[in-house]
Amino acid sequence: MIPARSHYDAVIVGARCAGASTAMLLARAGLSVLAIERKAYGSDALSTHALMRPAVLQLVRWGLFKPLIDAGTPLIETATFHYGASETTIPLYASADLPGLIAPRRTVLDRTIVDAARQEGAEFLHNTAVADIFADAHGRVRGVEIRGIGNVPLRVTADIVVGADGIGSLVAKCCGAQVLRQGRVSAAHVFAYAPAIPGASYHWYFQPGMAASFIPTNDGLACIVATVPTALFDDRFRANRDQARMDVLAALSPELATQAARAAPDSRLQAFRGVPGYLRQAHGDGWVLVGDAGFFRDPITSHGISDALRDSESLTRAILDGSSAAFKAYQQERDAIAGPILDTTDAVAGFDWTLGSIEERHRRFSAVMKTEMAQLSAAEFPEARKLALAS
Ligand SMILES: Cc1cc2nc3c(=O)[nH]c(=O)nc-3n(C[C@H](O)[C@H](O)[C@H](O)COP(=O)(O)OP(=O)(O)OC[C@H]3O[C@@H](n4cnc5c(N)ncnc54)[C@H](O)[C@@H]3O)c2cc1C
Repeated sequence: MIPARSHYDAVIVGARCAGASTAMLLARAGLSVLAIERKAYGSDALSTHALMRPAVLQLVRWGLFKPLIDAGTPLIETATFHYGASETTIPLYASADLPGLIAPRRTVLDRTIVDAARQEGAEFLHNTAVADIFADAHGRVRGVEIRGIGNVPLRVTADIVVGADGIGSLVAKCCGAQVLRQGRVSAAHVFAYAPAIPGASYHWYFQPGMAASFIPTNDGLACIVATVPTALFDDRFRANRDQARMDVLAALSPELATQAARAAPDSRLQAFRGVPGYLRQAHGDGWVLVGDAGFFRDPITSHGISDALRDSESLTRAILDGSSAAFKAYQQERDAIAGPILDTTDAVAGFDWTLGSIEERHRRFSAVMKTEMAQLSAAEFPEARKLALAS
């Protein structure tokens, strides 16, 4: 497949939650958009999928919550935190903006956003990798290079190149995005799927040195995750990941281990060894980063998809404005919330807590999310207007 045009207002590298959302919002505002994704349409990603309140709020206001429910994603109405033998259940008080929490499989979430973006007029090239980024004689990024028919290099120009290409971002590398902050810790997450009863809730389990999650999702399944510090993963999981995961689950909750043992027939074990969080410079001349390409925090607080959706909306405002001040404001806005999210996530992912202190660390994370929700609710939604892009 080759692109329909040789020039776009925006070319987006990577088309999952950050890239597809940005494509949808920019196309909705009238821009010509091409999103290029190495993987297949509707493919899975190495990620669990528990959405927190900010992600749900945005999906509701983008009109995507109902399609996700219609796709069989169960509504989650409570979250129970298990701290050793004690537990605290937090109800979600449903409202029009927040009907409940959901944890759609990435095969469902990413495809739903891509479909919505296509309806708005964005063009997608799946199964296509961006091989390079090119700039003009002044160093301003002008577009991307892909492989066209017969593997011949093909250049597509754009007023702005958006790197939504995840942790190993080619755009960040090619454009020399500086690392502004580096997290100190990382955790490993090992997961598989097992049957869940209808109406099941989120469950989060914590004991010194280990954690687990129970995340109800599509197809009557729950994603059951064992989480340990990366060093422990290297030490204990190398020989037999399946057994090591079951040992962690059994230590946290024998009932959870029993559920995990009823694994779905086609559920293979997936493992993420962990990467310390980071904040990268978000923009430069002709390029900008969104999602994990610019900001990564450990998955233990299940906030990456919320971050990606939130930043795609503020990035859309910056691109529509087009001024360098707007891109600067985009980075400032991102960092004002990303910094505290990184800090409070590392405070959990570092596993340097006790059963006496972990609850307070969760309260700190929750307070950051409360501020984020207030800001999101107050934010102006990108209007359907097309402003000249900076050239
Ligand atoms: C184990 C694990 C569990 C997680 N659990 C949760 C959770 O429960 N809740 C939550 O909110 N977050 C979770 N996260 C975080 C979440 O997965 C990420 O924050 C989110 O996927 C970021 O979205 P993104 O679109 O920025 O990047 P990605 O989802 O990584 O997508 C980037 C895309 O870019 C494509 N790409 C890369 N390079 C190129 C190229 N050169 N050309 C074309 N395409 C390219 C890739 O194929 C990829 O599909 C988890 C992460 C991990 C690792």
